[in-house]
Amino acid sequence: MSAPLLSVSGLTKHFPLKGGLFGRSTGTVRAVDGITFDVAEGETLGIVGESGCGKSTTARLLVDLITPDSGSIRLGGKEIGPDLSVRDLRRQVQMVFQDSYASLNPRLTMEDAISFGPMVGGMAGNKAVALARDLLARVGLDPSRFAGRYPHELSGGQRQRVNIARALAFSPKIVVLDEAVSALDKSVEAQVLNLLADLKAELGLTYIFISHDLNVVRYMSDRVMVMYLGQVAEIGPVEALYAAPAHPYSQALLAAMPSMDPDRRTMEAPLAGDPPNPINPPSGCRFHTRCRLADTVCSKGDPGLYVMPEAGHLAACHIHVPGSGHRDATSRAGVTA
Ligand code: SF4
Repeated sequence: MSAPLLSVSGLTKHFPLKGGLFGRSTGTVRAVDGITFDVAEGETLGIVGESGCGKSTTARLLVDLITPDSGSIRLGGKEIGPDLSVRDLRRQVQMVFQDSYASLNPRLTMEDAISFGPMVGGMAGNKAVALARDLLARVGLDPSRFAGRYPHELSGGQRQRVNIARALAFSPKIVVLDEAVSALDKSVEAQVLNLLADLKAELGLTYIFISHDLNVVRYMSDRVMVMYLGQVAEIGPVEALYAAPAHPYSQALLAAMPSMDPDRRTMEAPLAGDPPNPINPPSGCRFHTRCRLADTVCSKGDPGLYVMPEAGHLAACHIHVPGSGHRDATSRAGVTA
């Protein structure tokens, strides 16, 4: 992979829990716990995992909606903070949320909603309005029909198109799509996914695509990052990872994917129970309380990300670390990332 456009290193966000009469700290939710990954220019990185795994917190950290406790984010080689301002980051990395209605001001027309940001950024009013109308057309909404409408006069799919146009008004390099199509009907979802693919090709965009829908992630992504309890369990090229997931959690997630093929119907739940509490996550490998392959070593040491044979494929599991002490540990020589 060439020099990454986005480089995240050791990113951590813990939320303190307060309670009791004097609002004393009663614990810490370890929402994102030292994650490291890169995104190349022009690629789509999918992020998957059960709810509470930290994927949405990661998205919010990337656009500085919340401030990390530690770790670094580099955009185009420049570190946010020392080399690049948060203001510049927010211009270059835009986000589209799941709730298309809550994302829009109910008192602004679609033209105003899109032109507002550029005008605040110093663009002349007439130019911002022209840009808004151009972007409406680009996302498939005829400006002569939609520019003057309010959010309640649009369908969910149309509103999400406006939210995409609003994100594009800043000419971003990266768009973070956090469950952006999850609330849409399947037919509308397909149209918006195709629109996103067209815009990416047309404008040379880079996407971070967060979804609980593994089929949609496969369709959209070049690489996939699987998260579990605030950490990266596995990251790799989409087809290699879907064909041969290396981490037992990824294997369970993919086995739980709905299949249209009656011969591939799952008879047992591949992943039992809910994820453990992120306030007090399990020691060692956090998946050991649910893993069918767990061994003594798994509760003792954090395996860390390990480089798999395929380029760009890493997994955090003792089985893949030679000499880890796991009964099934591979004898393959390799390196820890
Ligand atoms: Fe399972 Fe152990 Fe691998 Fe964790 S390190 S995924 S518990 S085998």
